[in-house]
Amino acid sequence: MGDIFVVAEHRKGEIREITLEMLFKARELCQTSSHNLTAILLGGKDAGFVDDLAKWADRVIAFEDDRLEIFNADLYKEILDTLIREHTPFLTLMGHTSWGMDLAPALSIRTGFPLVTDCVDIQTVGDRPMVTRQIYSGKLFSKVSFKESPGYLITVRPGAFLPPDGVEESQGKVVRQELPAGLTEPKKEFVEFVDTGAGDIDITQAELLVSIGRGVGEEDNIATIRELADLMGATLSCSRPVVDKNWLPKFHQVGTSGKSVKPKVYLAFGISGAFQHVAGITGAGTVIAINKDRKAPIFRVADYGIADDLFKVADALKEEL
Ligand SMILES: Cc1cc2nc3c(=O)[nH]c(=O)nc-3n(C[C@H](O)[C@H](O)[C@H](O)COP(=O)(O)OP(=O)(O)OC[C@H]3O[C@@H](n4cnc5c(N)ncnc54)[C@H](O)[C@@H]3O)c2cc1C
Repeated sequence: MGDIFVVAEHRKGEIREITLEMLFKARELCQTSSHNLTAILLGGKDAGFVDDLAKWADRVIAFEDDRLEIFNADLYKEILDTLIREHTPFLTLMGHTSWGMDLAPALSIRTGFPLVTDCVDIQTVGDRPMVTRQIYSGKLFSKVSFKESPGYLITVRPGAFLPPDGVEESQGKVVRQELPAGLTEPKKEFVEFVDTGAGDIDITQAELLVSIGRGVGEEDNIATIRELADLMGATLSCSRPVVDKNWLPKFHQVGTSGKSVKPKVYLAFGISGAFQHVAGITGAGTVIAINKDRKAPIFRVADYGIADDLFKVADALKEEL
């Protein structure tokens, strides 16, 4: 029996959803394999996260210091490295997020523990973890096992494990620790959070979203889908490439680096269904996908799918309306 560590993520005074998703999965693993669940918190003084984490875990190890209020990979790495060496947890879970992508490879090198990234499922087989990842843009699943090691590191894809409402609360023990002595001065420095701007629409409040992806082809084609959205009384949203190409402003973007939306109906035109996009629509009611590639991963999460040219479908809908 060992520990499962979950590295808690927070931003601007709030625990991030990925933390609860990892705690939920880790708790399930602990129930089937009699490990202990430990949430690791690196945060500012009086952040107030400890009590929330203790509801999920058997134990919370908290480092609370003003230097840790905002994520700093250099500092966090050093503290986590020390902690992992001290406790040798069976498993350490981090989000497959900007935090985890920065921390996990360095921790793997420092501790010598094997790492598998971007996992969508975790099981234990015998005395080792076995994880599931998506490959070929989400078209295939692959199972990955680890070489034998005293501990294992995993980054978890956001949205892979959604905790149900009303999870039974624990009364985890809280262990507050001082920062390790002689921490190296970090080479990185936080400068500022840059707000992307509120914009003139709020896709998070829309009941009906018509969303476009790279499949729309070029900027001029957006007008025809915008027309459809107007006819339907829908709000226009999009995937990230549409924003990256400057076809639409950032506040239209759905996904992990955009916004999470919860419309009653979500129509996806020419969106492949990459996990970073799909993670933003887990709260949507009915998802309707239009994509000319019938193997596109979006069809896995769609309630209804049309495997056809998006412009043909948009024209037909407009005519009907
Ligand atoms: C750190 C990070 C964060 C990210 N955050 C986000 C995020 O927040 N949101 C997000 O969306 N992405 C995000 N991404 C990008 C993500 O990985 C995908 O690259 C992106 O979602 C793909 O967008 P897409 O589906 O529009 O384009 P593509 O994957 O290129 O898909 C286009 C689809 O259109 C279809 N198509 C083409 N022409 C037609 C046609 N005429 N009719 C019908 N279908 C057609 C194609 O079959 C294809 O499936 C992120 C990536 C990283 C690394």
